[in-house]
Amino acid sequence: MELIEDGEGSLTKAEGKLNPSDFALWKSSKPGEPFWDSPWGKGRPGWHIECSVMASDFVGEGMDIHSGGIDLAFPHHDNELAQSEAHFDCKQWVNYFLHTGHLHIEGQKMSKSLKNFITIDEALAKYSSRQLRLTFALVQWNNNLDFKESLLHEVRSIESTLNKFFKNIRALKLDNEHKVESGVIISKKFGKLEKKLFDDLAAAKLKVRAAFCDNLATPFAIRALMDLVNSSNTYISTVGADIKVDPLIQVVKYITKILNILGFQTRQDQLGWLDDSQSSGSSSDGASKEDIVMPYVKVLSNFRDLVRSSAIDKADYKVLLTACDELRDKELLKLNVSLDDRSDKQGALVKFLTDSEREELIKQQEEKIRLQQEKEAKKLQQKKAAEAKERERLAKGKLRFAYKDGTRRRSHQKC
Ligand SMILES: [Zn+2]
Repeated sequence: MELIEDGEGSLTKAEGKLNPSDFALWKSSKPGEPFWDSPWGKGRPGWHIECSVMASDFVGEGMDIHSGGIDLAFPHHDNELAQSEAHFDCKQWVNYFLHTGHLHIEGQKMSKSLKNFITIDEALAKYSSRQLRLTFALVQWNNNLDFKESLLHEVRSIESTLNKFFKNIRALKLDNEHKVESGVIISKKFGKLEKKLFDDLAAAKLKVRAAFCDNLATPFAIRALMDLVNSSNTYISTVGADIKVDPLIQVVKYITKILNILGFQTRQDQLGWLDDSQSSGSSSDGASKEDIVMPYVKVLSNFRDLVRSSAIDKADYKVLLTACDELRDKELLKLNVSLDDRSDKQGALVKFLTDSEREELIKQQEEKIRLQQEKEAKKLQQKKAAEAKERERLAKGKLRFAYKDGTRRRSHQKC
């Protein structure tokens, strides 16, 4: 009864009800209030009528899903049903109701009168849209969500775990590609540890599916994803240098797919969600800072590895000079960066090339190498010719020497 009275509005005391559970279809207007003419006098439609009329206007005589907060379940939605089913003379105006839980702030119901409400703009100034989305995903849609510090603490921890995981796998993938490029043979054979990871992935898929099928239980889905991240991290720390990236990539792609279903913005390569900095620090084509910078940093890191290991091995300085040439002529040029060496230890001039400029430079380089090779071939030819001449001369000399020698031998024989 309390709910019914509350539903009728505290301002107008319903008069003349035949049954205590009757509700107002039409309310008379007080002086100064907006009104429409009706057979029952000047007035306006009751709250339930507003909803029934608007919904019918859009979706017709029946609807599959009607949503609303749990506080609207009774009497509002019951009244909507009563009047609409009477009006359309049907038995089921709505097939399903989705009644969402309330949003509470630190244990208190959010309400205008308590003035404890947070506007979306205020929340977005304090938390990223991703953090808010994660907060909502951590509470099942039909439960009350208590927006409190401890929940947000959990959100930040999950966010950071996932961030680290995605970055780690992307780095491992890049590293693997580099190894393959430089001719390292990586066995494709999966061992016990990889098989365990594949089993964990399959188990996670079943758990997530079961969670979604059970009234969209997003918190359980997220938990299953986090368990999968944990077992992947365990795999990485136990497997050592023999790490296989394929199973890890499959894990990341699956997690990304589920996050995408939950509405998170994900990367095009399906290797994690978009960086939070994406909106501020991105280029116009949506590539993240990481995507843009990573190839250059990778070249730098490879060069550092070489310098470091050369120093540790006390290698000859020529190794470093060769590496410097490689860096300039191959690695950086691939990235459209040209280093123009200058005299007097001035350091190289750094230039960023367009694709056609790079092609031109590569052609020039090839031409230079060709000329150099030609020069060397010519030199070699000249050297060979000179050597041949020398051999000829020596041969002649030998003949003379042999003759002399022969004479000597003969004279010796005489002795
Ligand atoms: Zn309504």
